[in-house]
Amino acid sequence: MISLKNFINGELVAPLEGNYIDNYNPSTGQVYGKVPDSTDRDLQKAIEAAKSAFPEWSQMSIDKRSRYLMKIADLIEANIGRLAEAESLDNGKPVSLARRVDIPRAAANFRFFAAAIVNDSTESHIMEGQAVNYTRRAPLGIVGCISPWNLPLYLLTWKIAPALATGNCVIAKPSEITPYTAFLLSELIIEAGLPAGVLNILHGRGAVIGQSIVQHEEVKAISFTGGTETGRLIGKLAAEQFKKASLELGGKNPVIVFDDCDFEEAITTSVKSAFTNQGEICLCGSRIFVQNSIFEKFKESFVKQVNDLTVGDPKGDVNLGPLVSDRHLQKVEQFVENGRSEGAEILIGGKRLDQEGYYYLPTVIAGLDEYCEINQEEVFGPVVTLVPFEDEADAIAKANSTKYGLAAVIWTNDLKRAHRVAHQVQAGIIWVNCWMLRDLRTPFGGMKSSGVGREGGNDALRFFTEPQNICIKL
Ligand code: NAD
Repeated sequence: MISLKNFINGELVAPLEGNYIDNYNPSTGQVYGKVPDSTDRDLQKAIEAAKSAFPEWSQMSIDKRSRYLMKIADLIEANIGRLAEAESLDNGKPVSLARRVDIPRAAANFRFFAAAIVNDSTESHIMEGQAVNYTRRAPLGIVGCISPWNLPLYLLTWKIAPALATGNCVIAKPSEITPYTAFLLSELIIEAGLPAGVLNILHGRGAVIGQSIVQHEEVKAISFTGGTETGRLIGKLAAEQFKKASLELGGKNPVIVFDDCDFEEAITTSVKSAFTNQGEICLCGSRIFVQNSIFEKFKESFVKQVNDLTVGDPKGDVNLGPLVSDRHLQKVEQFVENGRSEGAEILIGGKRLDQEGYYYLPTVIAGLDEYCEINQEEVFGPVVTLVPFEDEADAIAKANSTKYGLAAVIWTNDLKRAHRVAHQVQAGIIWVNCWMLRDLRTPFGGMKSSGVGREGGNDALRFFTEPQNICIKL
């Protein structure tokens, strides 16, 4: 049994009340570990530690802070295998995927912000003959970073790294469903010699310790990634205290396939964008709109490729592992059952694997319009729908028909059309003829109910600092 600890003031410590939550292995459905069920008492300790670490950390030279982050990146890279296995054990994703994407990206996050802070600059505005204004960007103080279960270390470090780089002290709370890599990160942080109290990691339930972090008056900003309803609540609670909040929320991303696209590439990439990480990526394309003229051909080729996907033990050579939890499996199953009663044609999948663990087969659905439940709500699993469209206007209307606006993919070889459609699709991130190509300098985040704020490059450095204008009379 693996028993995790909180990381407070540079030390790994048990929760003060002594309570734990069970942690399940999704590939067996068995409990394999215990996660601290932290309370306000643990938070208070973390706040005190962060408060006393802040003066030195925030005034440290940027170069020295940057070197700490680089060191953490190096240590993550040196431990890729161990971290990838831990991430798979918690989340169910194939170990090979975690090794290839999640863990290297966590290292890249630290490295990126270590470099970004060294290269950052602030503005100055000159009033000729009168005055010079310059902008100072001060760290906020103590900030809260709350992350979900789907890309556990990748998303947690995407928040922690810019917060630390800009001189803040952090109270981080990973998802209670996938806490193992955050715990291993705290061990690496000790090895990196980060000053005590600069980063504190508290484990536990969202509605308990997560909400306490959001509401604590010493916490000056919240960077949150998770579900839209949780984000709505966090947004309200933060607003009551005039706290900054960056909210990265759910998605229901459209993939628009025009008949002039590179057909084979569109099929292969759309299979990836639908089913990578069991469809449990906020950027997955779960509604595929295909132009009428190629709909039948696309449907046939797509289902054929999905049929070749392997599902099984995430330690093996598989494309999909189990879903993250029994509760999530039941939710996905229910969406498909509701779809069936709305007249869905299940082209492939549509059921669990008949074995222990939370496995669900990759599922392709046709015969439903854009307004049915499964095309409106975030399923966040290996379920994708195929819907035909007539022309450009029809494609755009269908793509924009949900409350979400995180990402979209457009497949076409018509350059003008690509721009035209991209400008009309309501999504914060648009990929043309590709998916998941990420340049960490670009704005990242969603429109509409997919969130507020942007977390890419400079946006993150701005979020975690407060501008102060200093005007000097000449
Ligand atoms: P969730 O909202 O249930 O939980 C996210 C985190 O918030 C967890 O750490 C949880 O413990 C915590 N939390 C829950 N209630 C809280 C509260 N009242 N106060 C403070 N913290 C609270 O989300 P999830 O199920 O873990 O993650 C899946 C969701 O995340 C999906 O909707 C997915 O689209 C979204 N997501 C979005 C992005 C993005 O960049 N937009 C990226 C990944 C995942």
